[in-house]
Amino acid sequence: MKIVIIGNGISAERALTELFKSDGLDVTLIKGEEYGPYPRPRLPEFIKGAVDVSLFKKDKLSPFILKGLKVVRGAVISLDTKEKTIILKDGDEISYDKLIITSGADSNRLTIANDGLDVLSLRTIADAERIIAELERKKRPVVIGAGLLGLELAAAISIRTGGGVSVIEGADHILPKQLDEKASLFFEKLLKEKGISIIKGSYPKCYEKDAVVLSDGRRIPSDLALESVGIRPSIEFAANAGLDIARAIKINSRAETSAKDVYAAGDASEYDKLSPGLVYYALETARVAAINAKGGDAVISLSSPSASIEACGIAAYSLGDIKNAARVESKESRERYEALYISEDGILLGAIAVGSRANMMRAQKNIGEPVDLSLLDF
Ligand SMILES: Cc1cc2nc3c(=O)[nH]c(=O)nc-3n(C[C@H](O)[C@H](O)[C@H](O)COP(=O)(O)OP(=O)(O)OC[C@H]3O[C@@H](n4cnc5c(N)ncnc54)[C@H](O)[C@@H]3O)c2cc1C
Repeated sequence: MKIVIIGNGISAERALTELFKSDGLDVTLIKGEEYGPYPRPRLPEFIKGAVDVSLFKKDKLSPFILKGLKVVRGAVISLDTKEKTIILKDGDEISYDKLIITSGADSNRLTIANDGLDVLSLRTIADAERIIAELERKKRPVVIGAGLLGLELAAAISIRTGGGVSVIEGADHILPKQLDEKASLFFEKLLKEKGISIIKGSYPKCYEKDAVVLSDGRRIPSDLALESVGIRPSIEFAANAGLDIARAIKINSRAETSAKDVYAAGDASEYDKLSPGLVYYALETARVAAINAKGGDAVISLSSPSASIEACGIAAYSLGDIKNAARVESKESRERYEALYISEDGILLGAIAVGSRANMMRAQKNIGEPVDLSLLDF
């Protein structure tokens, strides 16, 4: 049986780990990116100067190649699910018995007028190297988007350049998906003390040669904009092949797509309307796709969603459901804020911590249980 994997991110790596627990499989991986798998979440650390480029350029496929993995460098441009063939950009054709799509995503980009401002985004090691090179010459970088990645990137730039960075956020608070307003304001206050200022409630309307112009008319002087405005799944070939797509390729609880013998995982996939673009989801969907592709029987089981960020040494952590609580218990000091989100019948639904993650392992274990208020002890 020939199993083909498209992509060389962490979903592919997780799938390979699972596949090579068995002997006698014929596995081919199609690698679109020169380097990888590598830990994309650590790219801001590279920009900061805290880790070396070798971390990202390390050959992590060799152990699998020793076990028989075949690697093909190329970009998949089309897929025929009836003939079970894949066509690469250079014209090569590859057949499969089972296919696992882990083609991930690219950075989303704003489609606004640009009159000469350099605009970059961060997804790959090549992007990170380009950003570092630009920061040698550019002195007024502005980050667009105060989500997890935008804030980590802003913090990394601020540490690398030793200068302040502005972040533009359209919502009225930062990390709108992960934090409520109170936690968000607390985090923002700590970030400001580290030189990161947030401009909220207004979107970039257009770029000028030396500024980002906002929807409310303000001009933010800049010589480099870094867009961090979400991701766009790399799934054009799958859409053209007629696979069911919503935001990404739809999968069921066995990571099967709508096409026979085709599985999908990670940022390229969407399960039960969920496509979070996060590592925990990528690893679990890839595990299930690989087990089922080799004839096993696994179903997706996702832990409570959690998100963590560390910017300029300040940690923030969001866990579980923070949107549907009947009451919130919180505690605050000069440098630390914690909140527990509790159901009407006293069950812990979610938690937020800013300034320290120390109590969050215990909070994770307490989710779904009667709330333990000692979690707020600090
Ligand atoms: C800077 C940054 C910080 C992040 N921080 C966090 C974090 O703190 N926590 C967290 O949980 N998540 C974080 N993420 C998200 C996390 O990295 C992704 O969820 C994860 O990388 C998804 O892995 P993947 O293998 O599904 O896709 P990807 O990592 O996107 O890998 C897909 C691979 O497929 C290749 N490919 C694409 N199209 C084709 C094609 N047509 N043919 C062949 N190959 C193709 C690509 O080149 C790529 O190598 C961060 C991401 C970034 C960029």
